Amino acid sequence: MRIAVLGGGPGGLYFAALAKALRPQSDIAVWERNAPDDTFGFGVVFSGRALGRIEQADPELFAAIRRDFVLWDDIQVHYRGTTTVAGGNRFAALSRAGLLASLQRRCAGLGVPVHHGGEVADVDALAAEHDLVVAADGAHSVVRARYADTFRPAVHLGRCRYIWLGTDRVLDSFTFAILDTPGGAAQVHAYPHSGQASTLILELSERAWRRAGFAADPAPLGESGNDERSIEAIAELCRDVVAGHKVVGNNSRWLRFPTVRCATWRHRNVVLVGDAAHTAHFSIGSGTHLAMEDALALATSLHEQRGVPAALAAYEASRRPAVLATQEAARASQEWFESVDRYTGQEPVRFAVNLLTRSRRVSYAGLRRRDPDFLARAEREFAASVAGRAGPPAQQPLRLDGLALANRVVVAPPPVGPTRDGAPDDLLLVHLGGAALGGAGLVLTGPVAASGTGTAVPGDVTLATEEQVAGWRRAVRFVHAHTPAWLPVFLY
Ligand SMILES: Cc1cc2nc3c(=O)[nH]c(=O)nc-3n(C[C@H](O)[C@H](O)[C@H](O)COP(=O)(O)OP(=O)(O)OC[C@H]3O[C@@H](n4cnc5c(N)ncnc54)[C@H](O)[C@@H]3O)c2cc1C
Repeated sequence: MRIAVLGGGPGGLYFAALAKALRPQSDIAVWERNAPDDTFGFGVVFSGRALGRIEQADPELFAAIRRDFVLWDDIQVHYRGTTTVAGGNRFAALSRAGLLASLQRRCAGLGVPVHHGGEVADVDALAAEHDLVVAADGAHSVVRARYADTFRPAVHLGRCRYIWLGTDRVLDSFTFAILDTPGGAAQVHAYPHSGQASTLILELSERAWRRAGFAADPAPLGESGNDERSIEAIAELCRDVVAGHKVVGNNSRWLRFPTVRCATWRHRNVVLVGDAAHTAHFSIGSGTHLAMEDALALATSLHEQRGVPAALAAYEASRRPAVLATQEAARASQEWFESVDRYTGQEPVRFAVNLLTRSRRVSYAGLRRRDPDFLARAEREFAASVAGRAGPPAQQPLRLDGLALANRVVVAPPPVGPTRDGAPDDLLLVHLGGAALGGAGLVLTGPVAASGTGTAVPGDVTLATEEQVAGWRRAVRFVHAHTPAWLPVFLY
């Protein structure tokens, strides 16, 4: 089988190495437009789980890259002059250059040629000359554009501006810093990726970006391709994070994050992997991992299935659910940072809990498992701030205007449908009473008609006649007699 791989990033190189290792007789070559050491970006982060997968799939590659790892457990949140530390997060990072060098050596060792400096423009010719073209050509894929009618890509640009930079300050751990700017909060996502340097990404809303002067009169890009004037200003803005160290660019300029989704990743004998097929916001640090997982699934499918069409179908079927789940987590994380001004009134530890659970991948229980002391402190501080008793925030009292709720659990039982004469029946009473007995502080009734002629459907629960009022009185009395819950009736 003749396979052309377009793009020598993590996705393309890892696929080429795995596919060659599984099928040494196949003829695989990679085309990469950049020189071998001409890499953009600084560090990449892997979770403990992601590393386990690489170790399992290719122990030799894992042994090579583990030498370059920087490992850490803590996440630090710098916010309003405080630093909150949460532990138990197993992460590793290494420089993108180091990862690519190890992947290039692995390909060379397996006999996979990598044609550097080879910009591929004629995708049709490549597809005609090969049994399979693997398009690992990144977020701005030419292959995706060439067959856009089939792939039907949708690109959604994020609302914030970000710039990917580095610093020669070696941070202790993953660091989020929330900085005050005249136009609102700006956030730094930073982590060490070698013994000499850290990655530093600055992200801020369009408004804050403009007010900070980054948009006005943009300097021409320096010879390095960097937005040099911004970098100088960023070094000043991030002075507490970099503590007098340098901030450096590497083809760094202001961007809005493009989230790429495609209707399909297959077109005849051409298949998309990694960023060419899908992207996920950098704030969950999963792009490289996703690209490498795609590569593994594709190499495995080619090995296990009979023929290219079956292999490509199996690859896409196996990867789509995981990619969608990651994109969903990335979307939640991206939206959290895009709306960070909503949270900047919160106390530091509460803010940190919010930040750490923003993608919903780390649950409240997950935080407790990772760092029980941190969560206990968060619970203590929150309970004290609302004059509550020890316990999780959901169990703390809440004053909602004139309503004093015993806790923050709200239950809306499922609608029961029309009842006889529109009066609440036993079924509704059981639903509402059950929710209140279950411990909710607030039980929602669902919409209740204020008049028998105004119901959405004949027989919908109503609060108008004596009989209906008596039915509701019975439900409310039951709830108040046996539980501290409130049961407001929503009239329409
Ligand atoms: C600010 C930022 C921070 C990030 N941080 C992280 C992180 O911490 N952890 C993480 O896992 N991921 C991170 N990512 C994402 C990560 O960089 C990408 O998801 C990952 O590199 C995707 O790998 P890939 O192989 O699919 O594509 P790429 O790495 O983009 O590789 C594509 C390659 O194709 C080559 N190419 C393109 N067109 C052609 C052509 N026509 N001919 C020849 N060659 C071509 C390019 O030169 C490039 O080398 C971050 C991304 C951003 C923007």
